[in-house]
Amino acid sequence: MAAAASTPVKIARRGLMLVISSPSGAGKSTIARTLMDRDQQISLSVSVTTRQRRQSEIEGVHYHFVSQREFERLRDSDSLLEWAQVHGNYYGTPREAVETAMGEGRDMLFDIDWQGAQQLQEKMSADVVSIFILPPTMAELQSRLHRRAEDTEEVIQTRLNNSRAEIKHWREYDYVIVNDDLNSAFDAVQSIVKAERLRRDRRHGLFDFVEGLIA
Ligand code: 5GP
Repeated sequence: MAAAASTPVKIARRGLMLVISSPSGAGKSTIARTLMDRDQQISLSVSVTTRQRRQSEIEGVHYHFVSQREFERLRDSDSLLEWAQVHGNYYGTPREAVETAMGEGRDMLFDIDWQGAQQLQEKMSADVVSIFILPPTMAELQSRLHRRAEDTEEVIQTRLNNSRAEIKHWREYDYVIVNDDLNSAFDAVQSIVKAERLRRDRRHGLFDFVEGLIA
């Protein structure tokens, strides 16, 4: 019997652009954070936003918090890969970090809304894998927004009103997960990432590997 290979075979592949969207409170940010903690191969795209920083948020970690003027400067100088107005604030994805990561074959995670997802699909469809997270019920969505207790009642109401419009875009995503249990939802996301990394068309190193195998 042949001896087992002692070193794992590494096959070069293109980076994955993992886009996760959901209405506010459906658990997307928790899932994204857990993925970042457990998966060293993926890094988070840190967006710029004109929204006020929440108490629990750290500049440069959760967002780059910028003025409206700075946001317009970035947008108008083509420094944003995509941008959108969401719940009355502006949000955008800095282009440079994404292009660097993709150039090095690293994976990136995007916690962005349906407008941003659409723009990335249009520009980089071959690399984008998109997941939409749904709440189990609208009542649960509402109670999660209240439990977070970091937004005013007015902000919560705006987000709830906008959530139906966001959910209507569910068909534009590759995968849809109902988050009725955080662990199961996270497992589903992990399975998607694992399978997508194995796709033949993403693994440009396969050609040389197979050629070497059968030479
Ligand atoms: P929050 O204010 O709760 O952090 O985010 C509000 C919404 O904006 C969420 O749906 C979030 O995914 C989305 N968002 C955050 N960053 C970006 C971004 O860079 N681009 C777009 N299009 N949406 C974003």
